[in-house]
Amino acid sequence: MTVLDVKPLTDRIRAYNPAIDDEMLSRAFSFAEKAHHGQVRASGEPYFTHPVEVALILADMHLDPATIITALLHDVVEDTGVTLDAIRQKFTDEIASLVDGVTKLTRIEMKSDNKQAENFRKLVLAMSEDIRVLLVKLADRTHNMRTIDHISRADKRLRIAEETLAIFAPLAERIGMTHFQHELEDRAFAVVNPEMRTSILSRLDYLSAQSEDLVSRICNELNATLADAGLESSVSGRRKSAYSIWRKMQRQKVEMEELSDIMAFRVIVPEIGDCYRALGILHQKFPMVMGRFKDYISTPKRNRYQSLHTGIIGPNKKKIEVQIRTPSMHEVAERGVAAHWGYKSDGKSVRSSEFQQLKWLNDLVRVLENADTSDEFLEHTHMEMYADQVFCFTPKGMLVTLPKGATAVDFAYDLHSHIGDTCIGAKINGKMRQLATVLNNGDQVEVLTSATASPNPEWENFVVTGRAKSAVRKFIRLEKQKEFAQLGRGLLQKTFRQSGKDLDESKLLPALMHFNLRTDEELFARVGENHISPEEVFEQFFPGEKTAEAPKKSKGAAKKPSLNIKGLIPGMAVHHGRCCHPLPGERIIGIITTGKGITVHRVDCQNLEKFTAMPELWVDIEWESDTPNVVNAQLETVISNEPGSLAAVTTTISDHGGNITNIQLTARTLEFFTFVTDVEVSDVRHLRSIVAALQSNPFIESVERAKS
Ligand code: MN
Repeated sequence: MTVLDVKPLTDRIRAYNPAIDDEMLSRAFSFAEKAHHGQVRASGEPYFTHPVEVALILADMHLDPATIITALLHDVVEDTGVTLDAIRQKFTDEIASLVDGVTKLTRIEMKSDNKQAENFRKLVLAMSEDIRVLLVKLADRTHNMRTIDHISRADKRLRIAEETLAIFAPLAERIGMTHFQHELEDRAFAVVNPEMRTSILSRLDYLSAQSEDLVSRICNELNATLADAGLESSVSGRRKSAYSIWRKMQRQKVEMEELSDIMAFRVIVPEIGDCYRALGILHQKFPMVMGRFKDYISTPKRNRYQSLHTGIIGPNKKKIEVQIRTPSMHEVAERGVAAHWGYKSDGKSVRSSEFQQLKWLNDLVRVLENADTSDEFLEHTHMEMYADQVFCFTPKGMLVTLPKGATAVDFAYDLHSHIGDTCIGAKINGKMRQLATVLNNGDQVEVLTSATASPNPEWENFVVTGRAKSAVRKFIRLEKQKEFAQLGRGLLQKTFRQSGKDLDESKLLPALMHFNLRTDEELFARVGENHISPEEVFEQFFPGEKTAEAPKKSKGAAKKPSLNIKGLIPGMAVHHGRCCHPLPGERIIGIITTGKGITVHRVDCQNLEKFTAMPELWVDIEWESDTPNVVNAQLETVISNEPGSLAAVTTTISDHGGNITNIQLTARTLEFFTFVTDVEVSDVRHLRSIVAALQSNPFIESVERAKS
């Protein structure tokens, strides 16, 4: 085994950071070399050459020691038996968390699908909480692109190159790492469309050959023009890259022959004010190309890039692009994020914790979260805020985008409503987890289903997507309807039985047509909900016949409850308080109500409080001892949510001679239903016996007189 040497790396770092801790660097070097021992690259070289090259790329960008050590270790967790804990113990928490970040990005990368490129870019950014993670990833990708020719399978080369163009080059551009961007683009272009790249390059060669030394002649003339006006500057020029020319050809739908500005020139002047002076001087001397001027100094790009851009018909009547900037703007333009790495005067790098608190980094991360729609590299992608989104995968690598806080159930419903309806569990990153588990970026979620499963009403408490919410609610609604149907059917059977008839369910059609309903179930539910009375249905079966014996409701003037009450004022109408439903046998009080007569209340009725200041309205009354009467009582019953529990209530009440005139479902939880039942009873003793019978029923949790 070739033992690689750490020295070239240490030397390169020491050149910009003399205070480097080379003990830890050497330790990381041998640790990673040992971990990768025996592994080889597609080129046949030892695998460890790859992390070393990645570290060298980052050293060239003058990055801090933690980033470079992370580069050395970046593949050990994914590709060797080394654990994150081992890294944390041997190195630092900071390095372990950077390695963890890179490992997670690598895992996503393996699942990527270019059709969802923008989502992947967002995912990568969302996961690169520390920007250094992304820098290591970009360096990693750059080295992989440098060595892509060693990969023997053409389809694999193509996939990697397409992914580079779709995801990594735009990301490099977005954080201002133009070196990475241009190298990644050019190398990927060579794989994706080698013929086009070659023909653009040869056209460029032809154009330069036509006018020899054109670039340097234009540079000199621009420089002289500025010097004549008394402005010190340094001018450089270059051909644009084959890939950027190709992009422009596609965007503008033009042929290569029609492309004119294939050269870009850069003017560097000492101060910001000089930038605008230089612009003025050039515009005075050369015609300006309309629509090409951009002031990125007053309005920097989101990646903090600053410059003035203009297009002019320059020397030799060539259309050229000119960028004007100061040296510090140039530093940012060339090195992007890395330009902000600081090293203190004593040679120590800015400590990472300090570094992370720097405002610019926070700004940058926020900027990354809001991609710029006008950005030419992203112009055809639809941007949206995604700070409040999470990105997860199916086991097959399909990306599922969900709002933050989404759970495994939301994920299941996002795949398909049937998967949501039948899900019973979830494996998240290979481990069984609860359905309520909130998902994180990059989670791989496998939904477990069972054909016989159904949604759990409790899901409504934790799902966040509209899709999952409405599915669960729909299910609850249908369940409720089922309950009501069961109740309504029971009420119908009872009414029919009491009239000596059988409810023949095969003959419901005329009733359905009469009530304009489609199914038996709907009819039963309407009866259960008290929208249709059992008597109305009976009427459809046996027109003209009265439902038997059902004690006629004691409404209105037909009954004279006054006859049963002593102490009334002769000639005054009597009403029973709807608030307290006084029953024969209970202590009662009459209140004189203007225009209505006397209203009878239970002595403990809360409404009596209203009349405490008006003793003149109070009338002492009591029930006659023998009161064979029918009175309404209201019971609030809480029953357990089990098959048969509702029937137990209705049966118990009717077995004890009570007559149910109305049932209303007032509350429903997973375990319990609450019903308010109107019952006709003869007196308070009768009611008490019914309550006692209900209380002894195992299905019934509680029974009380309903509070108004
Ligand atoms: Mn790698």
